[in-house]
Amino acid sequence: MANINNNNQPKKRKIPIFVFYIIFIFIVITISKMLVPMLTAPDYKEIKLNEFISMIENGEAVDIEFEGSRYVLKPADFDETNTYYETGRFGNDHLEYDIINACKEAGLDYSTPIPKNTAIWEILLAYVLPLVITVVFFIIMIRSMNKRMSGVMSFGKNTGKIYAQKNTGKTFADVAGQEEAKQSLVEIIDFLNSPGKYTAIGAKLPKGALLIGPPGTGKTLLAKAVAGEAKVPFFSLSGSEFVEMFVGVGASRVRDLFKQALDNAPCIIFIDEIDAIGKSRDNVMGGNDEREQTLNQLLAEMDGFDSSKGVVILAATNRPEVLDKALLRPGRFDRRIIVDLPDQQGRVDILKVHARNVIMESDVDFDVVARATPGASGADLANIVNEAALRAVRAKRTRVSQREMDEAIEVIIAGEEKKNRVMSDKEKRIVSYHETGHALVTALLTNTEPVHKITIIPRTSGTLGYVMQVAKKEKVLLNTEEMLEEITILTAGRASEKLEFNSITTGASNDIEKATELARKMITVYGMNDEFGFVNREKRTNKYLIERSSLECSDETATRIDNEIQKVITECYNKAYQLLNEHKATLDRIAGVLYEKENLTGSDFIQLMSECEPDLELKKADEGV
Ligand code: ADP
Ligand code: MG
Ligand code: ZN
Repeated sequence: MANINNNNQPKKRKIPIFVFYIIFIFIVITISKMLVPMLTAPDYKEIKLNEFISMIENGEAVDIEFEGSRYVLKPADFDETNTYYETGRFGNDHLEYDIINACKEAGLDYSTPIPKNTAIWEILLAYVLPLVITVVFFIIMIRSMNKRMSGVMSFGKNTGKIYAQKNTGKTFADVAGQEEAKQSLVEIIDFLNSPGKYTAIGAKLPKGALLIGPPGTGKTLLAKAVAGEAKVPFFSLSGSEFVEMFVGVGASRVRDLFKQALDNAPCIIFIDEIDAIGKSRDNVMGGNDEREQTLNQLLAEMDGFDSSKGVVILAATNRPEVLDKALLRPGRFDRRIIVDLPDQQGRVDILKVHARNVIMESDVDFDVVARATPGASGADLANIVNEAALRAVRAKRTRVSQREMDEAIEVIIAGEEKKNRVMSDKEKRIVSYHETGHALVTALLTNTEPVHKITIIPRTSGTLGYVMQVAKKEKVLLNTEEMLEEITILTAGRASEKLEFNSITTGASNDIEKATELARKMITVYGMNDEFGFVNREKRTNKYLIERSSLECSDETATRIDNEIQKVITECYNKAYQLLNEHKATLDRIAGVLYEKENLTGSDFIQLMSECEPDLELKKADEGV
C-alpha cells in the first residue's frame, strides 16, 4: 500500500459533503419506495364458503386463485376497496368442483393466478438495495470520522498520523557546521542506495542511529537530509505522539509505522524526541503502562525486521542519559551521532545557508555575526537571519544590512529593545559606568578590541545594558589565567559602580552568577585550584539540555570550596577595581560618551581608547592571542 504523498501533510482522504447529501436523498427515496407498497398492500377478508360461491355466482368476482390452503377472490370493486376475499380450502374434490362450476357459469378464468408484486428484481430494489446503501453509507461515515478524530475512534487502525514524505527536499547542503555528523551518515546513505553491496560481503549495517545533541542543532534536519540524499521516503513520528490517551494506541502505531515502512523499503524511519517513549523503564516514579508498552513494541519491531531490506531507523534526543539501556544495546540504536552546538566556522556556514534566499547588502559580515553569537544553535542563527530580514522590511529597505543583523542578534540574544522604558538620569549614569567598566577592563587585560558594541538601552528581558562581546579566537582550552581574566571582567561592572558612586546596585546579579559559576568550576570540575587539586567534586547530569550539577563531597569540603570561591572572586574584584582606578580618566571619558550616545560601536571604542591611552595599542580581537 503506497501511503505516501508529495506534500508535507499526512494523507487524508476528504469526502466532499455533497456526496453525503446525494447518498442521503437516495436512501430516503428507496426507503419510501419500500414503504409505499407496504402501506397500500391489499387486505384479505375471510368469508364463508357459501358466501364465496354466491359472490362468484352473482358475478361479483373478476378473478379466482387456488392458492395453497385457500381460495382467493378478486372482487369487481377491488380498485376501490383494495380487498381480496378468501376462504379456506378443504382439499375436498367435491367442493372444489362446486367452485369450478360456479366459475364456469360466471365465465371466470379460474386458472389465471392473481398477479403479485413479487418479481425478484423488485424485492432486490425494495429491500436489499436500501440495506446495502445504508451499510456502505455508515462504513464511509465511520471511516471518515476516524480520520478526523484519529486517536479516539481509531484504535490502531489509523495510519493517518504517520508522517510520510516521498521526498523531504532537504540535502546535506542545507545542513552546515555538522561535518562530523554528516560523515557518519554518509555510510547509511550508501547503504540505502545499494544495499546489495553490503549484503554481498555479509556486512550488516546498524539498524539504527541515534542523533544526540542540544535543541535546535539540526537533528531533525539531518535526518531529513539523509532521506533526501538517499532519495528514499521518510517516515517520521514524534515520540510524544506515541503517548496518547489509550493504552495500546502507541504500540499499534509502532506496528503500523514499521509495516508501512517495510512496504516502502528502502526508506528511513525517523523517531523524533525518542526520550518521550524510550525513558528508562526502571523509573523510580512508578511506571507508565502506555509508554512501556510502546517501548516494548518498538524493541520488538527493531529486533524483528530484516535490515537487509534497506530500512534504516534514525532517532533524535537531547537527553540520551534517560534512555532505556535496551534501546542502546547492539542491534538497536548502537550507533550514536553527536550533533553539537556549532563552532565559530560552523556558525558562519549556517548563516550562509540561511542567507541564501535573503537579499543582503555587501557590508554584511557573517564573521562578525558569528563571533558575536557564541553558543547560538543553528535554529537561533536561522532566527537571526529571518529577524534581520523582517527588520529590513519594517524599515522599508530592499536589502538586509549589517545594522539589521546586529539588531537581530540583540533581539534574539538579549530580548527586544524597549526604547520607551523609562530610566532615570542617575540610573543611566550608573549603567554607563557599569558597562564601560566591563569593556575597559577587557581591553586592559587582553590588549584587544573588546567589544562589538556597548549599549545602555534597556531590553524587555531585564538587562539594562549590554556589552556585545566579540569572542577572541574560538577556544577549546582555557588556561587558569584566562579563566581568572574572565572572572575579573565579570566583576568589573560592579567595581566601576563602586569606584564612581561608592554605592552598589542590583544591576550586577547576572555577572555575580556567572563569575561564581566560573570560579566554582575551576575548583570542582577543572582542578585548577592548588588546594583542591586534581579531584572532581561535582556530578553533572543532563549533559545536553540544561546542565544541572550537584556537589559530590563532604560537607566540610563544601564549606572550604565556598570559602575558596569567595577568595578567588574577591581577588579578581580587587584587581578590576585597581585597574579602573589607575585608568579613571579613561573610564570617565568613555562612560560619558556612552551616556550621551547610548550606543558605542567597536570602532567608536577603539577611537576613544587611542585618544585616552596612546601607549596602549589595541589589536583586533581575532588577531589576538
Ligand atoms: P533539532 O531537531 O536538533 O532540535 P532542527 O533540526 O529542528 O533542530 O532545527 C531547527 C531549524 O534550525 C532547522 O529547520 C534549520 O532551519 C535550523 N538549523 C539548525 N541546525 C542547522 C544547521 N546545522 N545548518 C543549517 N540550519 C540549521
Ligand atoms: Mg527536532
Ligand atoms: Zn555587568
